[in-house]
Amino acid sequence: MPNTPTQPNTPTQTYTPMPDSEVQRALVITAHPDDVDFGAGGTIATWTDAGIEVVYCICTDGDAGGFDLEFPREQMAGLRRAEQLEAAKRLGVHDVRYLGYPDGRLEASFELRRDISRVIRQVQPQRALVQSPERDYERIGRSHPDHRAAGEAALNCVYPDARNPFAHPELRIDEGLDAWITPETWVMGTPHVAHLPAHYVDVTDTFDRKIHALRAHESQTGHMDELDTFVGKWLRANAERAGWPEGRLAEAFLVMATA
Ligand SMILES: [Zn+2]
Repeated sequence: MPNTPTQPNTPTQTYTPMPDSEVQRALVITAHPDDVDFGAGGTIATWTDAGIEVVYCICTDGDAGGFDLEFPREQMAGLRRAEQLEAAKRLGVHDVRYLGYPDGRLEASFELRRDISRVIRQVQPQRALVQSPERDYERIGRSHPDHRAAGEAALNCVYPDARNPFAHPELRIDEGLDAWITPETWVMGTPHVAHLPAHYVDVTDTFDRKIHALRAHESQTGHMDELDTFVGKWLRANAERAGWPEGRLAEAFLVMATA
């Protein structure tokens, strides 16, 4: 069969996301503080508004971030944790967990997979939101090697590690964490939304909260006078791709069934 858009033949193309009302817990897994706010802040606000308990799992402390060469490096990790906590609060998220890997050197290692699997089994989410493991040649900034490593590791945990009781057996035997199947997974920042049917979330009404959350990352966005302009431009382009009327803003995801 030829692979044409009119002949859906992948789960991504046929899958309709679960209604938010059926999701009790969502787990977001990212490489750095601020990634979730750039990629999905408006969507997170719609989830918490709908009563979903959202947990962030952040693989690094973002200690290689920032622009101020004078700022003491040893203080950066603490500052970025505090900024992320504040940003999370602004979107209704109160549970932020850090894995403490060094920023800029993240690899989709077996150790990282164990640590992410641990959090999946602790949180037991119905929905996971992860970064894309693929490089985007059109917008290279979102393909930071840490983002791709976090995405690769997180997807390996969604399937198969977290659900396989024999993967990372110490989690079950020493920590009493049973296997967990996450039935739905969202991928943000993926180049595939340009040619596969994406799922678009209307963030027109939560845009201001997204910007407010991004502003909490002062060490990263303090110098960005045009923050709302360029973020708005991305979101307008998504809405346009979705075929929505002018003036709407959207965040775009690939959503797949992972039960
Ligand atoms: Zn990042």
